[in-house]
Amino acid sequence: MNQRFYLDYNATAPLRPEVRDAVAGALSLYGNPSSVHAEGRAARSAIEAAREKVAALAGARSEDVIFTSGGTEANALALAAQSGGSWHCYLSAIEHPSVLSGGRFYRETTTIFPVDADGVADLQILAKELEKHHLRGWRPFVSLMAANNETGAIQPVAEASKIVHSAGGLLHTDAVQAAGRIRLDMTTLGADMLSLSAHKIGGPKGVGALVLGAGAAVEPLIKGGGQERRRRAGTENVAGIVGFGVAAELASGDLAKAAALAALRDELETGARTIARDAVVLSARVARLPNTTCIAVPGTKAETLVIGLDLAGVAVSSGSACSSGKVEASHVLSAMGVPEEIAQGAIRVSLGFATERADIENFLKAFAELVKRLRPKVAA
Ligand code: PLP
Repeated sequence: MNQRFYLDYNATAPLRPEVRDAVAGALSLYGNPSSVHAEGRAARSAIEAAREKVAALAGARSEDVIFTSGGTEANALALAAQSGGSWHCYLSAIEHPSVLSGGRFYRETTTIFPVDADGVADLQILAKELEKHHLRGWRPFVSLMAANNETGAIQPVAEASKIVHSAGGLLHTDAVQAAGRIRLDMTTLGADMLSLSAHKIGGPKGVGALVLGAGAAVEPLIKGGGQERRRRAGTENVAGIVGFGVAAELASGDLAKAAALAALRDELETGARTIARDAVVLSARVARLPNTTCIAVPGTKAETLVIGLDLAGVAVSSGSACSSGKVEASHVLSAMGVPEEIAQGAIRVSLGFATERADIENFLKAFAELVKRLRPKVAA
């Protein structure tokens, strides 16, 4: 393969070399972590060391970390907890599909609350909705992501948790994209549950965690043995968890480099807007993750841009979802009220720990050629 420039960290990050080594080593820890003998104890202690590192990433206690098969399962576990009884579920319109599915909540007991034009959750509307249902005796279960995967817009989780708690409810936050990019702290966020995924921070795929706040409990989705303090049955993915731990530790260290990453991202945006002056950067007016940009080029199709960039060696993704052969604008951009003709040309470029200036320069070179080719009549 020719030289590649990977700018799709929000889809998945490359495996960190330190993680690869740790996972390879942990594959030899063949003991069952539930066994009392030395082999079992060695596997157990590797898991517990990883649990502490993952807890540190979320500002949580290690006993409150439940390892899962990834962010999707962590979200499902959170949403399964309060699906019965007198709970009503509130989800922001820009949540990841694994949250928007509502877990086991019925459609009648689920309310989607909107975001503004900048892609930030509208807490006034949420507060009004909570009041309405509170009067009917419902307890609210709210899920608001820490930051959006497409635009990077950081969500007002701490403010939301105050509103939710004063209504007697619980707040879950999907922090899969925020982890390692902005500081996370369960207490400051006021979150009762927080989801993480290893592969977005340079860990292996297929491992994640649901982190609980003080006093929060979950109803196991997977029942069987007593693993994970009876909250998630099944022999643990020891090597995956060890890799997650190493990735979490390194991701915590990356926070110090956030400003440098944001500077590279800003350089990319400035360059892209010099090439296509009418390009629109979505959520540009609000606080965003330092690594993410969603750029729409009017008069182009995101799929064409993504394929064109790929052929030039640059990996990015589109802000459109392709369902049943029809390319539709993403639900995130629709929720923000982005006009269809702009949303259709939106690509997401996401940077990460291994991104260098050469990645940005090569993106801009390929982008310039592509935009010129796709829109020959539009003067830059
Ligand atoms: N939540 C968000 C915001 C995501 O971006 C993703 C992955 O794209 C997930 C959850 C799902 O995580 P996983 O791939 O570990 O199931």
